[in-house]
Amino acid sequence: MVVGATPGLLADTRGRHLHDLRISVTDRCNFRCTYCMPKSLFDKDYKYLAHDELLSFEEITRTARLFALHGVEKIRLTGGEPLLRKNVEALIEMLAALKTTDGRSMDLTLTTNGSLLPKKARTLRAAGLQRITVSLDSLDDNVFRAMNDVDFPVTDVLRGIDAASDAGFFPVKINMVVKKGVNDRDIVAMARHFKGSGHIVRFIEFMDVGSSNGWRMDDVVPSAEVVRAISAVMPLVEAEANYSGEVAERWAYRDGSGEIGVISSVTQAFCASCTRARLSTEGNLYTCLFAQSGHDLRALIRSGRTDAEIAAAIGLIWEQRGDRYSEIRSDATAQDPKIEMSYIGG
Ligand code: SAM
Ligand code: SF4
Ligand code: SF4
Repeated sequence: MVVGATPGLLADTRGRHLHDLRISVTDRCNFRCTYCMPKSLFDKDYKYLAHDELLSFEEITRTARLFALHGVEKIRLTGGEPLLRKNVEALIEMLAALKTTDGRSMDLTLTTNGSLLPKKARTLRAAGLQRITVSLDSLDDNVFRAMNDVDFPVTDVLRGIDAASDAGFFPVKINMVVKKGVNDRDIVAMARHFKGSGHIVRFIEFMDVGSSNGWRMDDVVPSAEVVRAISAVMPLVEAEANYSGEVAERWAYRDGSGEIGVISSVTQAFCASCTRARLSTEGNLYTCLFAQSGHDLRALIRSGRTDAEIAAAIGLIWEQRGDRYSEIRSDATAQDPKIEMSYIGG
């Protein structure tokens, strides 16, 4: 019998509550973004997880329900490419039925490369998904094709964003990872394209996730530079956070035509307010994006433990958490072995 925390509001060793759960539903992807799943490593010999290694939809939902008992109010599905998981709509339906501790609906969202949205946006909405974030690194077709490294055209992702919007996911959040010398010339064009559309572009600093993307500090464009570049042509004013602990810093166009966000994971660590747990495709729980190891919840689930026992194990893991990687990042830690982004999700 695992003893420890009983369900309820949990705090870790730095006083941070458990609030968000990111669930990776597949380790596969139809893109090979050079900073995430470089072709050199994720080639035809790469060993992806076998079907029976993945958590089933029932196992994911059961685990998510136990997280909800501990105070989780927001669930994000990710991957790999989450829309590649067969019948992911059925999982969404199951998760959409979960409730927070005070009886509200779970905030249920998903991050996707957008490639399958023209086909799937409506069924995702019908299944109960509430919001969608689409990753899009450039509007320049040549740059985008080179970054996704499978020659995927930018127009098809734009069609995906339109399809999401038409299906009722509005506004769509659009995430652009900025890498110096690769797509930083496209920052202003990206902002301009979506200005006035209602959609919200968020510029993300390139991070040293995993061990395969050859990260160097020199590749990072600080968010302050992004804001300066956009504001020079389309003036911005700082906007208030929507809620305390919001990861993206908000900036509104002075002419009232919308807003952008910047996520400064490298230059302005937000560990102090990090309330996220991550569940990998095969059921490992990670308490930090940069963790070197996880906690095997699948073993507990498949060994017949009760809900109370699994909830207690989750509680203990969270209460012992002290992660603050981004606060202590250095050139040396950047070389440490870490789990890959495609495995744990963004
Ligand atoms: N395939 C989906 C997608 O691309 O949106 C979901 C999974 S992907 C791992 C989630 C997010 O992580 C994407 O927005 C991606 O751009 C971001 N990401 C991946 N590697 C990154 C890195 N090294 N630094 C910053 N963001 C990264
Ligand atoms: Fe796939 Fe998303 Fe990683 Fe790109 S960022 S390789 S789309 S998982
Ligand atoms: Fe959270 Fe870890 Fe990122 Fe810090 S480095 S914000 S603890 S995921």
